[in-house]
Amino acid sequence: MSRRGLAFLWLTMSLAGLALILALAVWLGPADRPEADGTANRPPGEETNGAVGDSTGTGQADAPQEPDTVPPPGLPGSETPAEGLLAAVGDIMMHMPQLPAYYDPDTNRYDFSPFFTEVKALIAEADWAMANLETTLSADGDYSGYPRFSSPHELAAALKDAGFDIVTTANNHALDRGVPGVMRTLEFLRAQGLVTRGTYRSPEEAAEPTIIERNAIRLGLLAYTYGTNGIPVPKDMPWLIDLIDEERIARDIAALREAGADYIAIALHFGTEYQTEPSKEQKRLARRLIAAGADLIAGSHPHVIQPYEIVEATDADGSVRQGVILYSMGNFISNQRGDTKEYGVLYRIRLRKEEGVTRATDVEPVITWVHRYKAEGRNHYRILPVERVLEERNDPLLTGADYERLANDLGAIRKRLPVPDGTQGNGTFRGTEHEG
Ligand SMILES: [Zn+2]
Repeated sequence: MSRRGLAFLWLTMSLAGLALILALAVWLGPADRPEADGTANRPPGEETNGAVGDSTGTGQADAPQEPDTVPPPGLPGSETPAEGLLAAVGDIMMHMPQLPAYYDPDTNRYDFSPFFTEVKALIAEADWAMANLETTLSADGDYSGYPRFSSPHELAAALKDAGFDIVTTANNHALDRGVPGVMRTLEFLRAQGLVTRGTYRSPEEAAEPTIIERNAIRLGLLAYTYGTNGIPVPKDMPWLIDLIDEERIARDIAALREAGADYIAIALHFGTEYQTEPSKEQKRLARRLIAAGADLIAGSHPHVIQPYEIVEATDADGSVRQGVILYSMGNFISNQRGDTKEYGVLYRIRLRKEEGVTRATDVEPVITWVHRYKAEGRNHYRILPVERVLEERNDPLLTGADYERLANDLGAIRKRLPVPDGTQGNGTFRGTEHEG
């Protein structure tokens, strides 16, 4: 080889080596960037109201993109969607007959976790699981049921243990024990690490947006009630509880979106008690809020299951968005019996974020039943998933008559929860009646 040839070879190899070093530097680069730990660049409001983000949180949306780095799931340019499962249930009620069997005189403590044992897996699997707490909590022993609810604070630990992470408190019983009751209830819930929305301990807490990030999806949460059973909200504490006010909710939706929420869920305590169909006003309000930018309305208060529906809204940019309205999820736990008051729905809603847009892709209603039975002279309660129980038919505490009754009631309730109109074409949603 000539001198010239050797020099050329040397130059080529040096360049190749340099290229290799550069490639390595680019490949290793992202590990040193601050946003890779999932904490940087979160908008204000993130991690507020007790919300806890997960370790896979992103926030890279505004970060400078290296040409050959992969954008995080769900964001523009990523081929991987972000996905999550949201679970929502109706009213958590505590009537006095629900207490005695769960009290341990040796420790002077209550343990209500057995209520939830049979549905725990369905709740715990969800990335977000929310319930409406229709009572106040206390540790004073002066417990009461209807009409002014005050329940042992250990209920908070049982909800946490069941897998819930969000408890909404805007309902007509929130002020049953006055302002101290509101404060205590929130203290007990927060002490369990639960995210709360609907009542507040301070104007600052009320003003903080609630955004809960899981799997790179930011769930924004709001909660409102039609009223407080005639108990006035103190004039100097207008921030204490969120009351339904259409214009205000529309503003809150816009602010929550501005604060970075991908998907907005609103817990609404509304409707008419014991009505199995939503009222005209429920339909009007819920649809109006979807049109105003909400993605999910999670309704409660009627104490019976009402239908759900999927509605379409056209946003300002002309894009069509589907919203989910759960008019009433019924009672998740209570001592109410008869006229299907012991039934509820645990909705499991799959969310997918693609190109920065988050949508529900599947709505699965799981019908639940509160099994009340006597043991040692006291009432015991278990929430059972009805379809599973009917399939398995091996529950040692259920009789043939129980199964027969469950099968009958299930038939009636399924008729109340038809597959929503106009949602079967694209195969994204399904109801309980797969065979129509
Ligand atoms: Zn209510």
